[in-house]
Amino acid sequence: MADPKGFLTTGKQLAERRPVDVRLRDWNEVYVERSLLPIITKQAGRCMDCGIPFCHNGCPLGNLIPEWNDLAYRDDFVGAIERLHATNNFPEFTGRLCPAPCESACVLGINQDAVTIKNVEVTIIDKAWDRGGVTPQIPERLSGKTVAVVGSGPAGLAAAQQLTRAGHTVVVYERADRIGGLLRYGIPEFKMEKRHINRRIEQMRAEGTRFRTGVHVGEDITGQQLRERFDAVVVAAGATTARDLPVPGRELKGIHQAMEYLPLANKVQEGDFVESPISAKGKHVVVIGGGDTGADCVGTAHRQGAASVTQLEIMPRPSEERPGHQPWPTMPMTYKVTSAHEEGGERIYSVNTTRFTGDEDGNVQELHLVEVEFKDGRFEPVPGTERAIPAQLVTLAMGFTGTDVKNGLVEQLGADLDARGNIARDGRFATNVDGVYVCGDAGRGQSLIVWAIAEGRSAAAAVDTYLGGKTPLPAPIRPTDRPLVV
Ligand SMILES: Cc1cc2nc3c(=O)[nH]c(=O)nc-3n(C[C@H](O)[C@H](O)[C@H](O)COP(=O)(O)OP(=O)(O)OC[C@H]3O[C@@H](n4cnc5c(N)ncnc54)[C@H](O)[C@@H]3O)c2cc1C
Ligand code: SF4
Repeated sequence: MADPKGFLTTGKQLAERRPVDVRLRDWNEVYVERSLLPIITKQAGRCMDCGIPFCHNGCPLGNLIPEWNDLAYRDDFVGAIERLHATNNFPEFTGRLCPAPCESACVLGINQDAVTIKNVEVTIIDKAWDRGGVTPQIPERLSGKTVAVVGSGPAGLAAAQQLTRAGHTVVVYERADRIGGLLRYGIPEFKMEKRHINRRIEQMRAEGTRFRTGVHVGEDITGQQLRERFDAVVVAAGATTARDLPVPGRELKGIHQAMEYLPLANKVQEGDFVESPISAKGKHVVVIGGGDTGADCVGTAHRQGAASVTQLEIMPRPSEERPGHQPWPTMPMTYKVTSAHEEGGERIYSVNTTRFTGDEDGNVQELHLVEVEFKDGRFEPVPGTERAIPAQLVTLAMGFTGTDVKNGLVEQLGADLDARGNIARDGRFATNVDGVYVCGDAGRGQSLIVWAIAEGRSAAAAVDTYLGGKTPLPAPIRPTDRPLVV
């Protein structure tokens, strides 16, 4: 145990964020660079090295949290990154972006603030990169087997890295112009700078993984062709079919899916445009959907110079404390103030959008809403609460309904879908088509980066077994594993 009294003598201290007026002037990450280093060892020392570390259970990757907390406390960051990489291919992604179910499950969280596991994680990996401690792990011998991975999000990248290191020749096909999936073209730069993806890709290239961008599997190459050319195929194509809002006025100009709006802002940061073709500059912006995608729209709109930003949510405002029906160690639904929310805007809860109205040129000008109550299993409008708010740019961030490769790749392969519109798989991530596996959001539905990495690692173990009869690769989860809920 790092510091037997750490949890008694040291209070929780979070990574410092840059002042709002400063960070709104750029797109860099919101955190003060290096701010964690002086405090991180003390924070790691709050870990109690529990006999039954529930943080392990909370983390889909089974991260060895007490072990690297102890090493970080002792300033052994070389040992800490070895333990961290043992279970997580990309801690720089999860350390920045994960909602940290491990912290919700931390034993210290029963009656105190949980250990700041995520901040320790990101410091360990950032230090490792800084001192040149992340190097390619080139396989000693090749198996002679080939694997195609469709999709380069966190699931596809994790599967590809594991399979390459196991000695297989792996080609990652990506329909977008750059590698990274939603890490690249969903999550804004201010949450994670894309340089973190770029240097991982360089490591993977050096290990032998091959990348083919701008190739839409299902159009540029068929599913059957892929299956014929490779010994195995891993489908990690995500779940990006967005839920729509079929109300009067939806056809007006200025109403966009979040995933039409956010990638363009990311492309500005990549240098593809000077200004986004869908910009919030000078506009009253309304974001429909109170989740993380909505928060990303809020932060993006503020940086683009919106006149106002309002976020709407149909559900009631969650409580700030863990609700009684979501006890430790579950991951509770609580009121969150993300960095984007700190930067301004208004959040309105328990409202539904009834229609949009526009000007004579067909541009949206107003969003009409009504307050709602949850009665008899549905949201009912509260009479007399209708009102209109200004809306010159509206983004829809209401969740996703499954994979968008149903008509191409899935049909060509003859793969089955499950009842929720995801690609069906058995307990070993295998589809009904011999040699075709599925991982990440494509099989699970829209989820989290940590689940995508865990699925990619587990699917890689299944593919390695399929190709060679056995595997030394770890399989942290089964397809049916779900977050801890009651
Ligand atoms: C805006 C937004 C913000 C989010 N923020 C967070 C967050 O902060 N933290 C968190 O944990 N999770 C977050 N998520 C969820 C998280 O990003 C996803 O769960 C995760 O990226 C899923 O990984 P994946 O590899 O399965 O799929 P994806 O990341 O969706 O990658 C799939 C890739 O496959 C490619 N592809 C699809 N079809 C084909 C084809 N036919 N041929 C070739 N390529 C194809 C796509 O172009 C894409 O690049 C967010 C999601 C969104 C939309
Ligand atoms: S549950 Fe919390 S205190 Fe216990 S080992 Fe994990 S991080 Fe440390």
